[in-house]
Amino acid sequence: MDADFDIGIIGGGPAGATAAAYLAKAGLSVAVFEREVFPREHVGESLVPATTPVLIETGCMDKVEQAGFPKKYGAAWTSAEEREIDRMGFRNLTNGFRSAEVLFSERDQTGVDRDYTFHVDRALFDQILLKNAESLGATVYQGVAVGEVDFSGDLPVMRVRLGGRSVPITVRMVVDASGRRTHLGNQLKTKVTDPVFNQYAVHTWFDRLDRSALAVNKEQADYIFIHFLPVADTWVWQIPITDTITSVGVVSQRSRFRSFDGDREKFFWNTVASRPELLDVLKNAEQVRPLKAEGDYSYGMTQIVGDNHLLIGDAARFVDPIFSSGVSVALNSARIACQDIIAAARAGDFGRHRFTRYESKLRRAVRNWYEFISMYYRLNILFTAFVQDDRYRLDVLKMLQGDVYDDEPKVLATMREIVRAVEEDPQHLWHPYLGTLRAPAAAPGF
Ligand SMILES: Cc1cc2nc3c(=O)[nH]c(=O)nc-3n(C[C@H](O)[C@H](O)[C@H](O)COP(=O)(O)OP(=O)(O)OC[C@H]3O[C@@H](n4cnc5c(N)ncnc54)[C@H](O)[C@@H]3O)c2cc1C
Repeated sequence: MDADFDIGIIGGGPAGATAAAYLAKAGLSVAVFEREVFPREHVGESLVPATTPVLIETGCMDKVEQAGFPKKYGAAWTSAEEREIDRMGFRNLTNGFRSAEVLFSERDQTGVDRDYTFHVDRALFDQILLKNAESLGATVYQGVAVGEVDFSGDLPVMRVRLGGRSVPITVRMVVDASGRRTHLGNQLKTKVTDPVFNQYAVHTWFDRLDRSALAVNKEQADYIFIHFLPVADTWVWQIPITDTITSVGVVSQRSRFRSFDGDREKFFWNTVASRPELLDVLKNAEQVRPLKAEGDYSYGMTQIVGDNHLLIGDAARFVDPIFSSGVSVALNSARIACQDIIAAARAGDFGRHRFTRYESKLRRAVRNWYEFISMYYRLNILFTAFVQDDRYRLDVLKMLQGDVYDDEPKVLATMREIVRAVEEDPQHLWHPYLGTLRAPAAAPGF
């Protein structure tokens, strides 16, 4: 049977568009099916430097630079909690709260040729990536949703909704880049919900928000800010979108929202009010979008590669976004997967064994992320203490840069030991600061 395309991609977000770009560049015929019509809004606006080599390789970087997105040179964390952590991480500021920060330029990273990355309006960023894939030769269908994929024959057949009809498209291989809709994970029943992380986010955009209000100095105003709240496992992001627009989101445990007496509007303002100085900043700005909620996250897949198919980006795995890892995982999973797909196409064999290199690299990267995030939630002050400690600072920065694909950062082993010691010793100075979330020894599906 002849195939309509070599590769059919479900979803045209950052993962799908990046895979399409690499595959089209390699001379394969590629079709991207995207259910929405771009530009479309999307959460996940702050990038990490590990996106840079991929944007350069796929030819997107100049277009991203030209779009004029705010440059992101670093990250900062603030806290208002009255606890004895000053010498363990946070700098005590004269205005009554505490702060820690890092600059990406402090550590060299292979393939990263600039000391900043970007904060992006995802509607524009995702459109740039998808158009770039099209310009490299990929066929892009927008407003076209993929239905069931039939793997029972020699070649996969994708049912796509075109003009109100279900049309069969035969391909040699399917790449699932459908994001948190996890298209193939649902169809093949390989999705496993994370038993520990069940977060919930409510977010919006503000105009004329004073981004420097909680910054140590004005030059940091365009960093990403993570503001800790004096509420268990709860934090707020502050991400510049344009000169005047700022994205703000509250992330908390879903169980807190469920037991909250009120709607998402009340939940947002009530939670932010736990940091009065942050509430003041928001109240003095103008909310320009309705609040949007995101649930359904933190899951793994028991299988991310199979005969004639594999999963990339959020379709493969999602972990809490505290360290802005999502888009970089989308881009890098596409890059690594495409190396295997191109080799498989040359060999004329799309069997599962062709994708094991991709599978092990992605699993290792996500395991690193998962453990780092777990320890962050378990012992928050350990993270800020390590950021401020010269022995560990660069290794923590390696994680924050998204540089996680080749080995386990050494700092993870040290963090693991300290968390264990603190858990086992009720007299430990840090024992009272242990969080309530406890990651299982084996993360689901990975
Ligand atoms: C609260 C929250 C905050 C976040 N913050 C950040 C952050 O600051 N930085 C960061 O890097 N990441 C962040 N993320 C993660 C980030 O949003 C994702 O990791 C990223 O968008 C993944 O890209 P993707 O291409 O895999 O999926 P998506 O961007 O979701 O793209 C998937 C595409 O597939 C399409 N699609 C789905 N099903 C079908 C179908 N059946 N047929 C056709 N098309 C289909 C969708 O319409 C969509 O356009 C955050 C996530 C959450 C939930």
